[in-house]
Amino acid sequence: SQEEAAPAIGQSPRPAFDVQAVRRDFPILQERVNGRPLIWFDNAATTHKPQAVIDRLAYFYQHENSNIHRAAHELAARATDAYEGARNKVARFLGAAQTEEIIFVRGTTEGINLIAKTWGAQNVGEGDEIIVSHLEHHANIVPWQQLAAAKGAKIKVIPVDDSGQVLLGEYRKLLTSRTRIVSVTQVSNALGTVVPVKEIVAEAHRFGAVAVVDGAQSVSHMRVNVQDIDADFFVFSGHKIFGPTGIGVVYGKRDILEAMPPWQGGGNMIADVTFEKTVYHGAPTRFEAGTGNIADAVGLGAALDYVERIGLENIARYEHDLLVYATRGLLTVPGLKLIGTAQDKASVLSFVLDGYRPEEVGKALNEEGIAVRSGHHCAQPILRRFGQEATVRPSLAFYNTCEEVDTLVAVLKRLAGNTG
Ligand code: PLP
Repeated sequence: SQEEAAPAIGQSPRPAFDVQAVRRDFPILQERVNGRPLIWFDNAATTHKPQAVIDRLAYFYQHENSNIHRAAHELAARATDAYEGARNKVARFLGAAQTEEIIFVRGTTEGINLIAKTWGAQNVGEGDEIIVSHLEHHANIVPWQQLAAAKGAKIKVIPVDDSGQVLLGEYRKLLTSRTRIVSVTQVSNALGTVVPVKEIVAEAHRFGAVAVVDGAQSVSHMRVNVQDIDADFFVFSGHKIFGPTGIGVVYGKRDILEAMPPWQGGGNMIADVTFEKTVYHGAPTRFEAGTGNIADAVGLGAALDYVERIGLENIARYEHDLLVYATRGLLTVPGLKLIGTAQDKASVLSFVLDGYRPEEVGKALNEEGIAVRSGHHCAQPILRRFGQEATVRPSLAFYNTCEEVDTLVAVLKRLAGNTG
């Protein structure tokens, strides 16, 4: 269990990599905020970028910048190679069977919308059912609600237990012959719960439903293999895995993508256009209308290279120990209540503190250079399940340290002692 593997407070986890060397790779971690060293505990919102990613973006604009029409000229060939090379890296990173299964989009939100507006629009009809979990980010709720409203379909919700873990038995009861889509997050952005997506996907397939996995919060914390999970679609955002903003990925099984209608129409996605008829390209080009975010896709490739150099297994082990350390530390703060106590969690801590509104805690921490998110984390249904409108959410990455956690705990203890 997490508890047994936990280091004692004050005793650092034994990292499988040099955390201080890693920290030097991220220039922004040298920033000072309010006269203090920045402590970045807002990794679930977005992550920082290593120098390797910053350099790769600069190199692209200095040496490769062009639109991607391979045959046109030398720079077009370089840009196309860099962009398609990044697609290759993403395919390998996710364990996809083919590079053509990787579509570049702006991020998780756009990815889920793409699936809802293509596969969903084609395959969901009146009386059909879409299942999501109670843990979902609004990005994995609203597009399905819009689809359901347009088609006369119904949304069903997998409930969670009091620890914030999904109830698989209840899930099984929701599945019917009308279930078309099951869309769940792999890690909850609000509570940190690691959801058993492989089991959820397998059950969905028994009913002939398509399974979508939201990997926005998982890919930076654990090894993901889309073929092992057997997800039909898997979506993530580059900026949450040390890559640029504005770039994200939809993985889709090749046969499903090939049968899907395009979403946006325009240049790049066509094989032939006349005023009478347009013939579309196959996947993935069919889903990448217009000029994409070429440089940022290349930057994402560099981010994945960086993460792979450290090793996701090493990252997962280190972050596990750090999470246990932080959990124990937070529980020593008088009046602090953790929200989300599932056995299996990844790198997110959500809490409320007696006598303070979450925004007040966030402001007080900012005074000390500590960045956390306080609010509803774009996941109002799950916070309300726990009777909260907002929480304070420190979220960890592999560049965080026990010393930073100690500082957080010390500031919270001081606050807790000041409530009068
Ligand atoms: N899904 C989850 C679980 C998230 O945590 C987030 C971002 O916080 C999203 C989806 C949306 O990601 P983006 O804003 O990058 O599109």
